[in-house]
Amino acid sequence: MNIQEIVSLQNAFFKTQQTKSIKFRKMYLEKLRDIIIKNENLLYEAIHLDFGKSKFDTFTTEISFVLNDINYYLKNLNSFSKPKKVRTNLANQIGTSKIHPEPLGCVLVIGAWNYPYQLSLSPMIAALAAGNCCILKPSEIAENTMKVMAKLINENFPPEYLYVYEGGIEETTAILKQKFDKIFFTGSTKVGKIVYKAAAEHLTPVVLELGGKSPVIVTKEADLDIAAKRIVWGKFINAGQTCVAPDYLLVEESVQEQFLEMLRKYIIEFKYQPDSEHYTRIINRNNFNRLIKLIQKDKIYFGGTFNEEELYIEPTLLNSVDWEDDVMQEEIFGPVLPVISYTSFNKVLNTILELEKPLAAYLFTRNTEEKEAFTSKLSFGGGCINDVIMHLGNDHLPFGGVGTSGIGNYHGKFGFEAFSHQKSILEKATWGEPNIKYPPYSEKKLNWIRKLL
Ligand code: NAD
Repeated sequence: MNIQEIVSLQNAFFKTQQTKSIKFRKMYLEKLRDIIIKNENLLYEAIHLDFGKSKFDTFTTEISFVLNDINYYLKNLNSFSKPKKVRTNLANQIGTSKIHPEPLGCVLVIGAWNYPYQLSLSPMIAALAAGNCCILKPSEIAENTMKVMAKLINENFPPEYLYVYEGGIEETTAILKQKFDKIFFTGSTKVGKIVYKAAAEHLTPVVLELGGKSPVIVTKEADLDIAAKRIVWGKFINAGQTCVAPDYLLVEESVQEQFLEMLRKYIIEFKYQPDSEHYTRIINRNNFNRLIKLIQKDKIYFGGTFNEEELYIEPTLLNSVDWEDDVMQEEIFGPVLPVISYTSFNKVLNTILELEKPLAAYLFTRNTEEKEAFTSKLSFGGGCINDVIMHLGNDHLPFGGVGTSGIGNYHGKFGFEAFSHQKSILEKATWGEPNIKYPPYSEKKLNWIRKLL
């Protein structure tokens, strides 16, 4: 089937109103949950083939997320889709006002390769929960995961409701010529601009989940040991190929040496060696080559070894990095952590303020003033104080970027809202109509209106 056919099938199906039934949505969400659980091993095998991601990491960072999303929407669908009564102002009495969440129609989800299940299926699940038809285009870079998602979904779901369209740049370019009711894109800022332009042709609203350089700051007032443990975990999980991974580390000069030692200790303790089964590989040769160029030999504090055959790059700490170094000019998206020391917390915040707004930012400190300055001064998608990455595991927090790191957000009820239109309806009584708003107008009427409004 070509893309035009699928889009027109989905548009026609949406008009039958079937996806608006809560029973219909729940039935297919439950079906999807069953398919995922039944085929868990296939999902693990595919992602392992793509970039050596372990079963443990795949379950904790992908499958559990997706299953949690399904269960969350099954539990909350009734209340999310119910019309919400709101207050009615004096000028509209006698009346009642309600907001009716309604699905948008046929939506497109474009996924990224680094968490291929989570980043493709989570927005897709939110779209289905909100009552839409959906076309999913996963990333072709993680080819095996794309194929397994296409197989499992296309064999079990009617294409007029849900379809996985496989393909790379050429196919996506063709898909983007179609008119959708929403486009949800996860990927780079560069491709985000292409998607935004294509969407503008049809005035299609977008959610763009993009990237950027996310800082982590460690002050001398931090619990250094727990900071080191959490940063090493958050930076090197998925071999640093995580959109919200700490991209670079800013550490207060007086604790720099001590902190670097602690980072080294945890990297060794976590056993991220070439033969490790639980350390993910780099996705492909292009990224591997890009990353090893960022490892400036004279700045290696720890690590720096790699194996091209295996696409393995050792967790690497670079010390005494300058803001002008290559590694500070682009999002790293790999297991290389540049470290820059600072003496003034305020100055360091001002430096970050001069850069593009990142997707995430992290601060480790026990000092209340530092926490307040970080929260109020910096603008970023979301983040943590005294942890990294974990904010996106909380359904009650919206997840998304700001500025060049993205537009819009999702997760939990925010995902449902991202794929819904809030339709406002005012219902008026047909009695008790005051004559005051109708012509012929008079000074007396205007005086009354002034008093009332
Ligand atoms: P990417 O932008 O290269 O690809 C994303 C998707 O866009 C893929 O499905 C791909 O097929 C498609 N695509 C690529 N080039 C295209 C083109 N010219 N025209 C149309 N479509 C095109 O991104 P990636 O390499 O898959 O992911 C890495 C980037 O994504 C990083 O910047 C990372 O920070 C970001 N990211 C963001 C989030 C988030 O939730 N905000 C999550 C993961 C990754």
